[in-house]
Amino acid sequence: MKRITIVGGGQSGLQLGIGLLQKGYDVKVIQDRTPDQIAEGRVLSSQCQFDAALDHERALGLNYWEEDCPPVEGISFSVPNPEGPGKAVDWAAKLDAKAQSVDQRVKMPRWLAEFERLGGRLDIALADIPMLETEARTADLVIVASGKGDIGKLFERDAARSPFDAPQRALALTYVHGMTPRENHSAVNFNLIPGVGEYFVFPALTKSGPCEIMVFEGVPNGPMDCWRDVKTPAEHLAKSKEILDTFVPWEADRCRTIELTDDNGILAGRFPPTVRKPVGTLPSGAKVMGLGDAVCLNDPITGQGANNAAKAAAVYLDAIVARGDAAFDEAWMTTTFERFWDYAQWVVQWTNMMLLPPPPFVLNIMGSAQVLPGLASRIANGFDDPRDFFPWFADPSAAEDYLTSLQAA
Ligand SMILES: Cc1cc2nc3c(=O)[nH]c(=O)nc-3n(C[C@H](O)[C@H](O)[C@H](O)COP(=O)(O)OP(=O)(O)OC[C@H]3O[C@@H](n4cnc5c(N)ncnc54)[C@H](O)[C@@H]3O)c2cc1C
Repeated sequence: MKRITIVGGGQSGLQLGIGLLQKGYDVKVIQDRTPDQIAEGRVLSSQCQFDAALDHERALGLNYWEEDCPPVEGISFSVPNPEGPGKAVDWAAKLDAKAQSVDQRVKMPRWLAEFERLGGRLDIALADIPMLETEARTADLVIVASGKGDIGKLFERDAARSPFDAPQRALALTYVHGMTPRENHSAVNFNLIPGVGEYFVFPALTKSGPCEIMVFEGVPNGPMDCWRDVKTPAEHLAKSKEILDTFVPWEADRCRTIELTDDNGILAGRFPPTVRKPVGTLPSGAKVMGLGDAVCLNDPITGQGANNAAKAAAVYLDAIVARGDAAFDEAWMTTTFERFWDYAQWVVQWTNMMLLPPPPFVLNIMGSAQVLPGLASRIANGFDDPRDFFPWFADPSAAEDYLTSLQAA
C-alpha cells in the first residue's frame, strides 16, 4: 500500500487525503491546528464554491451541508453612477446550478473527523523542513498543501506566471447575521467601485447557522484600504457599514440591523497573488510537491481559490491512482501540476485581469450585459468555469465579434 503524506489539512489537503483513503492508500496529514482550534479560530476565507468544485466534494461524499447551507443562486453586478446617486450598471443572472459557501471553521473539523474515521493518520504539528525530510524518507509521496503558510516558500516563485510582486488589494471579511435578503433570488452581489475597489456579499453557512459574508477588496492606498487602525470586532463592523454608506448605499440599506456572527467572524489582510513551481527540493535533494494555494495563490476578487483547490485535489487524486506502482518522480509531479495548470492558467489570467483597471472593451462587455441577458448569464456561469471567458473577455476584437453576434441574434 502506498504511503502519502500531506502537509496541511485544508480544502485541498483534506479533499485529496480523504479521496486517497477511499482508494486504499495509507495517508498521513500534518496539520498545524486541531479541529477545535480551527472551529474556535478566526475566519480565513469566504470560500464560495461553484458547481464543478462542489461536484468533486459530492463525488467523495463530503457535501454534508448540501441542505443546510443557503444556496447562492446567481451573480449580480453593479457599478455606482460616478455623477450622482444610483447605479451606472446593474444586472443580475441566475447560475445554472447553485453555489455554496460553508465556513471552513465548520467544514474542516468535520472533514478531519471523516479523515480519521477512514483510518487516516492525523499529526497535529507545524511542519518544518526537517519534518519534511523525515516524511520524504518514509513516504512514497509528500504533498505540501499549506495554503498561505510559510513552508510553501520552499517552492520557487514562478515569475513568468506571477505578474504581481505586491498585494493588489487590501482584503477584509465580515460575517454577519440580520442582513435583509436580496430581492428575487440569492446571489453574489458584486459591486465594482472604480478606483476604490470591490465589495461583494453572499449567503453562507457559519457555526451559528445561515449568515451573509461581506468581502471588501480595497485598491491599495485608496479609501477602502482602511483597516489598519481598526482594533476591535465592533470597530470592524462599524467600518464595514461606513464603507457601504459611502460607496454602495443600496447595499447599506440591507445592513441596518446586521450583527457580527461572532467576534472571530472578521479578517483583514493582504498578499501578492503568486504562482510557484510545483516541485520543491529539500536540502537532502528529496522532492516534494505543492498543491492548492501553496503553489497557485489567487486574489479572492473572483472567488476562485477554494474552487481551484478542489479542482487541483481532484486532478492529483486521479493522477496518483493512475500512477499505479510506479514512483512519484519529479517528471510525474511536473506533469500532474501542468494538467491542473491547463485549467488554472485561465483562472489566474482572468483573476489578474480583474485586479487591473478594466479596459474600455471590458467595461463595454459588463455594461452590455444589462441589455443582453444571454451575456449576463454567460458571465455569471463563467465563475464556475472561467475558461469560458476566453478569448472574448481578454481580447478587444474577440469581444467586439462576440457582442456583435449577440446583438444580431
Ligand atoms: C479574504 C478571502 C476570501 C476568499 N474567498 C474565497 C471565495 O469566496 N471562494 C473561493 O473559492 N476561494 C476563496 N478564498 C480562497 C480560499 O479560501 C483558498 O484558496 C483555499 O482555502 C485554499 O485551500 P488550500 O487547501 O490550498 O489551503 P487552506 O485551505 O488554507 O489550508 C491550508 C492548511 O494548512 C495548514 N498549514 C499551513 N502551514 C502548515 C504547516 N507548516 N504545517 C502544518 N499545517 C500547516 C493551515 O493551518 C491550513 O489548515 C478566499 C481567500 C481569502 C483570503
